[in-house]
Amino acid sequence: MTATTVNATGVLFEADAEALDQDVSQKKYTDGRKLQLVWRNIVLFALVHLFSLYGVWLLFTEATWTTFLAFPVSVAFSIVGISGGAHRLYAHRTFKAKVPLQLILLFLDTFAFQDAVYYWARDHRVHHKYTETDADPYNSERGWFFSHIGWLCVRKHPDVVAKGKEIDLSDLKQDRLVMFQKKYFLVLMPLICFVMPTVLPMYCWGESLKVSWHVLALLRWCLNLNIIWLVNSSAHMFGMRPYDKKISPTDERFLMFLRMGEGYHNYHHVFPWDYKSAELGPYSRDFTTRFINFFAWLGWAYDLKSVSPDMVRRRVLRTGDGSHPVWGWGDKDLQKEDVVDSTITHQRKITAGS
Ligand SMILES: [Zn+2]
Ligand SMILES: [Zn+2]
Repeated sequence: MTATTVNATGVLFEADAEALDQDVSQKKYTDGRKLQLVWRNIVLFALVHLFSLYGVWLLFTEATWTTFLAFPVSVAFSIVGISGGAHRLYAHRTFKAKVPLQLILLFLDTFAFQDAVYYWARDHRVHHKYTETDADPYNSERGWFFSHIGWLCVRKHPDVVAKGKEIDLSDLKQDRLVMFQKKYFLVLMPLICFVMPTVLPMYCWGESLKVSWHVLALLRWCLNLNIIWLVNSSAHMFGMRPYDKKISPTDERFLMFLRMGEGYHNYHHVFPWDYKSAELGPYSRDFTTRFINFFAWLGWAYDLKSVSPDMVRRRVLRTGDGSHPVWGWGDKDLQKEDVVDSTITHQRKITAGS
């Protein structure tokens, strides 16, 4: 892929790495202007959180065992819809998918309901290009609450709108399935995200309407939203910066598990074209990567882009904050057991007095 194509799509690829290797702390800003509140969204989100809390109560008091077990599975697949679909496939083009996998990911993305892939990818590309400026839709310079949910409760900053219009989405516009989802989103989303998880449990295992609606529709959606929002908020504030200490995104151990692979946010902002969104090795709890690997094995996912260990090592040495788990012998984070278990050959003989 040439640099020209990269610029044309607005997607960050390997060629952008050197551009990212700059001190961007000077560029972070917010003009702090008051943004106009959108009361409809505020009331809606307040109600969803309130009824989801009731869903938690129902999950532990009234839900059938099948619902209790189906709940975490449905949350996991909602997350994959965003992390594997909207994020890694469509926003970053980190791999290619055959039509059946595209359909699965678009279905799961609609099940997760965070707007159509087209708009999600547009906002996310702008987030990567203009991280921590007023053009970043979830600018964490405005604080944790804004980058978590606040940005959805106000009218967009004019810079977000302007940069959103500039970013090239031609690849998505040419994708007939993406445009189909965009066109019929207001029909597909209520059916797949709310009606289906309410009705199916009632017919398949006799769950009550009250539990189905509050647990598998509302609570599942609400939990999935918050887990993914944590990447925009917490993963831009708290945690380690093993790959680039000058940028705000962090690697958070808590999120690595919770968001099934999308918590390695420092790595992801440095190498956004990596389909794993992380290094492998000690980072092994990534459900999304395993999901993609499974479909690669089936032949439905292909052209998986990644970063060589040597490239990672060079970047860590150049711009990391020293918290990279292990990148060499003598690293302060090297585990004692690893030191003990390691084999050292050709050792110098220690003689008395040496
Ligand atoms: Zn991203
Ligand atoms: Zn980010």
